[in-house]
Amino acid sequence: MPRELYEIGEVPPLGEVPPKMHAQVIRPERFGEPELAIHPEVIDTPVDLEPNEALVMVMAAGINYNNVWAAKGEPVDVIAARQKQGEKESFHIGGSDASGIVYKIGDEVEGLAVGDEVVVHCGQWDENDTGVRSGADPMFSPSFRIWGYESNWGSFAQFTKVQAHQCMPKAENLTWEEAAAPTLVGATAYRMLHGWKPHTIEKGDVALIWGGAGGLGSMAIQIVNEAGGKAIAVVSNEEGSNFCKNLGAEATINRRDFDHWGIPPRTDSPEYSEWLAKAKLFGEAIWEAAGERVNPKIVFEHPGQDTIPTSSFVCDAGGMVVICAGTTGFTATEDLRPFWMKQKRLQGSHFANNEQANAFNELILTSKIDPCLGETFSFEDIPVAHQRMMEGTRPLGVMSALVNAPEAGIVDY
Ligand code: NAP
Repeated sequence: MPRELYEIGEVPPLGEVPPKMHAQVIRPERFGEPELAIHPEVIDTPVDLEPNEALVMVMAAGINYNNVWAAKGEPVDVIAARQKQGEKESFHIGGSDASGIVYKIGDEVEGLAVGDEVVVHCGQWDENDTGVRSGADPMFSPSFRIWGYESNWGSFAQFTKVQAHQCMPKAENLTWEEAAAPTLVGATAYRMLHGWKPHTIEKGDVALIWGGAGGLGSMAIQIVNEAGGKAIAVVSNEEGSNFCKNLGAEATINRRDFDHWGIPPRTDSPEYSEWLAKAKLFGEAIWEAAGERVNPKIVFEHPGQDTIPTSSFVCDAGGMVVICAGTTGFTATEDLRPFWMKQKRLQGSHFANNEQANAFNELILTSKIDPCLGETFSFEDIPVAHQRMMEGTRPLGVMSALVNAPEAGIVDY
């Protein structure tokens, strides 16, 4: 007779799925500060699987910024959005990165078996979507969604329900918490730097990496290095600078040395020339950091509103500003002239497809990229970890939390 519920840190016998599980749950009535909005509950395990799905027993879960947004209910109420599409659950279990063990598979799953030790990437889509069936990039499918953000049943629970194609091999040498940390940010950075031909990072190319000491940035620096490029990382303090240099950044720039951030003045206003002079100084700081008078071929953007005018200005002629977020705001005010005169590209990018996620995972499997685990939290502290992420008091690199791994430092089952 299977047990009703296992405690956090207790690993059920392989393949035994208890009907109840512990989960960190967001409900609309708690939307707000992440440390209050995310709350532990005992909940029914999602045992019913679609033919293409798998149930993974979560050993550790990566912490990402997306569930700060989910906890706040901004800019999207993810629960209401799903209910509009017919989902009945009135709660959200977040978590878009996991390491764990496959406990159950759907009837049509191939290439994945109960007992496989996996990491889970967060891209989900409808395999029957016309575009996906015709071989188009599933990232362009209207059915694309981020598991554990746009979908329910993420990794902040003892069991997570995923599409089988999301599962990738776990690196044997990494602990559960290390393995859970980098996939979302790493695969996103991989697509940004390798996914937008001809603007892919090549040997000798200079790339400007915003937030080099954060999740995306720490992965981007290593991906640029691996391709033989030069990463110039933007940081906000000495500690971040040392961290980025240790990861292989060519040099760093402290954004606190500049004050022209935010929405710039209109190009026809008297204040614009002052803004432009400061943006030019930032460009000169890049030349100094690169050791040559060369502008970045790729600008790796995610702060958004505060920085994008400068990103566009410093980007090389024919280069690309590639952006995947607007952490500081969503309003972009641009001087459009350099876009046509210097033929620059502004490219949006969002997570990654299977090929890109697996290419990034290969860099992890072959130890070419360090997962950059900055701090490991307990299951109970998942809300606090998100609060710290929102407040910017998070550690350098990437964060994860133990779920069913009994303790930190364990590499296998
Ligand atoms: P993170 O680990 O918190 O890092 C963000 C970095 O941004 C911080 O290290 C900080 O670095 C820098 N930053 C903060 N305020 C800034 C400002 N005003 N100007 C310039 N830099 C600033 O977060 P993350 O995991 O890298 O994610 C960053 C954003 O990307 C989030 O909004 C997240 O939701 C989004 N994201 C999107 C996707 C996607 O697929 N679309 C995937 C992953 C993440 P310093 O203070 O050291 O400068």
